[in-house]
Amino acid sequence: MDLFSSLYPFVFCSLASGSSGNSYYIGNGDEGLLIDAGISSRRIVKSLAENGISIRQVKAILATHDHSDHIKGLAVLANKYRLPVMATPDCLKGVSQHPLTAELDKDLMQEIRTRKAFRLSGLEITAFSVPHDGMGSVGYHVRNSHASLTLATDLGVLTDEAVHFLKSATTIVLESNYDEDLLQNGSYPPYLKQRIRSHQGHLSNADVAAFLQQHFHSGIQQIFLCHLSQHNNHPELARQSAIDALNGCTPDAAKMLTVLPRGQRSPLFHL
Ligand SMILES: [Zn+2]
Ligand SMILES: [Zn+2]
Repeated sequence: MDLFSSLYPFVFCSLASGSSGNSYYIGNGDEGLLIDAGISSRRIVKSLAENGISIRQVKAILATHDHSDHIKGLAVLANKYRLPVMATPDCLKGVSQHPLTAELDKDLMQEIRTRKAFRLSGLEITAFSVPHDGMGSVGYHVRNSHASLTLATDLGVLTDEAVHFLKSATTIVLESNYDEDLLQNGSYPPYLKQRIRSHQGHLSNADVAAFLQQHFHSGIQQIFLCHLSQHNNHPELARQSAIDALNGCTPDAAKMLTVLPRGQRSPLFHL
């Protein structure tokens, strides 16, 4: 941890990442927020505690979209701890209609607008639209006075807007869902392969590599790959593909790259 990190703490961890469930914590040291709650409420509380964070430090849950792997534990967690659930109007509509989250207390729902920054727990947060087949899908850009993080998961293509927010951050959390060969030769039915590859689907390892080759710059200090497919990807494949893309851009490729585990929490990272 450098001097700035201790003056302006900015911490991040993943509690789960992938199609079986997603949840991330971003905080300022004293308090923070969750992005998505796609695992059980009990597991979120336990995984946070294992990283030294009390659920009482969490001040809100931001949702990216209404797919179950992002909202499974949302209603139970939010209702129990009276946490505001912040999302786009379309996402909130999807959440209130979803069987897993229909019980969410309407009083806890707070609408946010894309590209309209707001403050929470000493952090400035901006949501931006991403192309995906969920309701009101967004990514998030979160910053304090010395560091920033852009999380973009569940998106079929990297739009100019997503690229803009990724390039503006010191830390990137980016979906690297599938390896094209594994998907092509795997057992998924054709319609599902088509859905994953579509512009409303998910990003491949090659999509991430192309982004890094084109847009990496020295202001980007850490890269986390998230939402890896269990069947159509492998952590080593995703990692190597990104490192190959970064080699030539930076000598620190291996050091700055982390593949977030699917079924367990990551450690707490000080950004
Ligand atoms: Zn997902
Ligand atoms: Zn999704």
